[in-house]
This record gives sequence, C-alpha cells and structure tokens, in this order.
Amino acid sequence: MKLQEPLPDAFYFPCTYESLAPFSHPVLVSGYPTCTNAACTIENCSHQDFHQVTSEGYATQASPYLLHYDNNTYQGNSGSPVYLPSYVCVAIHSKGGVTYNQGVKITEEIYNVISYYINLN
Ligand SMILES: [Zn+2]
Repeated sequence: MKLQEPLPDAFYFPCTYESLAPFSHPVLVSGYPTCTNAACTIENCSHQDFHQVTSEGYATQASPYLLHYDNNTYQGNSGSPVYLPSYVCVAIHSKGGVTYNQGVKITEEIYNVISYYINLN
C-alpha cells in the first residue's frame, strides 16, 4: 500500500538488530489492543474501546529469533513494537503467554527486508 500523502503527526520507530544485552533490559510495548478488560475475549468483548496502551517491563530471555519479556500485553497487541526506552524497536510483539510474552526479534535479515520496502519509493 502506498499512501497518497504523509500521515499528519506520524511517529515511527527506528529499529535495530544490534545485540543489546536483552536480559533484564527495560522494554516497552505499545499498541491498540481489542480490550484491556481481563474478562473479555475477542469473541465476547462488547467494549471495543480501542485506545493506545503502553506497558513497561523487562526482557527476560532471548534466542537468535525471539525475545521474551514480562510486560503485560492484551489480545490485539500483536504487531506492536517492542522497544527500548530510547524508542528503538528491537522486536515485534507476536504472542501472549501466561508466564511471559514473546516477540520476533529484528534480525539483520528482517531489518534488510523492512529497509528494502521503505526504500522502494
Ligand atoms: Zn472488552
């Protein structure tokens, strides 16, 4: 999709694949989940009060492709940037769990794919 004009007041996150000692590193997750009411599921939620939710926490574990963190996330948070306090994105939130949440790390390959599409203009 190509926009006909820039979004007003758009904010974007630079991202990095540099190794950043993820253990116990503070990270934030910010997005527009379906609902933050713990009793709701996507199927039964009647609130639909979409608003931006940002959670703070810490990265707890990292593998070559995945990052775990203890931030609270909600249904619909997938696709949210997982970023450092310096607003540099290090992963994309992809899975909510009971004992941890998980994102796909920005690897050099993913970084290059994103850069390729940004530079297609
Ligand atoms: Zn709800």
